[in-house]
Amino acid sequence: MEVIRLRGIGVSPGIAMGEVTLSERVVFTSRREAISQDQVDDELRRLHRAFERTRSELKELKDHIQERMGEQQAFIFDAHLMILDDPMLISNLEKVITEEKVKAEWAISKVNTHFAGIFESLADEYFQQRKTDISDVLARVYRNLERKKEKREDPDKPVILVAHELLPSEAALYLSKKKVMGVALDMGGKTSHTAILARSLGIPAVVGLHDVSLKVKNGDFLIVDGTDGEVIINPPPAIRREFQSKRERYETYQKELKKIARLKPETLDGVRFTPLANIELPEEVTAAFSYGAEGIGLFRSEFIYLQRPVLPSEEDHLAIYLKMARSTYPKPVYIRTIDIGGEKSLPQLNIEKEPNPALGLRAIRFSLKNRELFRTQIRAILKASVRKNVRLLVPMITEIEEVVELKRIFQEVKDELRASKVSFDESLPIGVMIEVPAAAALVESIIQEVDFVSIGTNDLIQYYLAVDRGNESVSYLFKPHHPAVLRLLDYVIKTVNKYGKEVTVCGEMAADPLSAIILLGMGLRNFSMNPIFIPKVKKALRAVEARTAEEAVAQALKLKTATEVEEFMIESILRKHPQAFLMSQITT
Ligand code: PEP
Ligand code: MG
Repeated sequence: MEVIRLRGIGVSPGIAMGEVTLSERVVFTSRREAISQDQVDDELRRLHRAFERTRSELKELKDHIQERMGEQQAFIFDAHLMILDDPMLISNLEKVITEEKVKAEWAISKVNTHFAGIFESLADEYFQQRKTDISDVLARVYRNLERKKEKREDPDKPVILVAHELLPSEAALYLSKKKVMGVALDMGGKTSHTAILARSLGIPAVVGLHDVSLKVKNGDFLIVDGTDGEVIINPPPAIRREFQSKRERYETYQKELKKIARLKPETLDGVRFTPLANIELPEEVTAAFSYGAEGIGLFRSEFIYLQRPVLPSEEDHLAIYLKMARSTYPKPVYIRTIDIGGEKSLPQLNIEKEPNPALGLRAIRFSLKNRELFRTQIRAILKASVRKNVRLLVPMITEIEEVVELKRIFQEVKDELRASKVSFDESLPIGVMIEVPAAAALVESIIQEVDFVSIGTNDLIQYYLAVDRGNESVSYLFKPHHPAVLRLLDYVIKTVNKYGKEVTVCGEMAADPLSAIILLGMGLRNFSMNPIFIPKVKKALRAVEARTAEEAVAQALKLKTATEVEEFMIESILRKHPQAFLMSQITT
């Protein structure tokens, strides 16, 4: 058998080996099959039967997922039921069958292409997602035109799931099964639903493999290396052994991480620090705590809006926030209000595309333009705060006027709740993100208005250095250790500390051991990051004295280039603490 090695994007670390199960993809027909006039009624009945089967299938799936993974994941099926029940969809299909006198298969194929065309031309992340949802629903109806019941793949032996693309509903369904050990997909990126889900469930996954689904067949043996983003089809015994020992090393490493997770977050000279987790889905809370998070430092609430065909209601928000507050209690959860606008527009509101989204109507700017939406979210956050572990965090502040305005809205909502005798945390802390350079320069005034700040280094660096954070061609300029960035961060951290208020860094920078030591030296104590990096950072910070970091940073701030800063810091730290970067050298 031929050995094939494929490179993709490792989106969930770890190594899985086993037999392939291919997820069957519905291929819409490209054959326009004509029927006679007297067959039209039969064909319409066939279509309606397929709709009914699809409806009961979706309801069944919804219950199944709800039971296994909770309401949040089951939500996707509500969205699909809404699409299915949209009168537009069925009438479009009926029209094609009746007017063109064709089989239902062709009608579905045509309507699918039609919608895909519309959504594609909008070139917007949210609409792309809707296109996938409509295709997902149409694929089910298509399959149900035949009487064949959907093959319920509940394999007895553990499998590696291979597919061209996992539709959101399939991802939830397949990955909730304990039997899927690894995932390999042709399509997808780091932030796809499958990737997030696989990470939170600890299932190794590689996506973006282009054509793995064409290269394997059911029963092939596959290695999925989610750490290095590689997939090997039918490996000979020598390679299997190699990966078996890599898996063992990874498992030992995981055990080591879990051990670190239980250690006290304290530097060598006894300075306490707090590792926190950045998450996108409520399901990630449990994994975050297992990595040693002492709370959720950043809950990006966008998914609540992006996963719904209609705007979320206060109840939708509340259900999610209550669940999070409950599962993190007594630790805190910082709920960030919507950071949307620009490229991630909300079709429910018909926002126009902007020429320069990063500098456009984003985050708080968007919220202040859409007051009712903002108030709905704030009301739900307040209602979820009865346990007193909820914090309100507002993104993209540029000027004091915005802070004053948001505080006014916050007060109004509180007054309303009080008037209707709804209980909430009267002293719910309210904070803002420092991620626009102007806000960093103005932090002394801002901190007097709020309870805490959280520095979003991803955006702060992007705006300060004028480097698009997602653009590969300029990524070489995205330097967290650029002396200008470090001086700005030092100023913000020291100023907030001077006022005795809380400051956190919640950008990617907090997840890098060297950066974390530098931030510690500036006086930072709260580090919020993707939870998988917590043990690494914790280990690095536990291996140094805060005093050493402080002294070294004071010198490093005078240097002229990022390279000089890095060399100087590593050398100064290692001279005193040779163990400091040990963990960051272990890759698997
Ligand atoms: C940041 O900008 O650093 C941040 C944490 O926010 P996001 O990555 O969600 O923009
Ligand atoms: Mg940001």
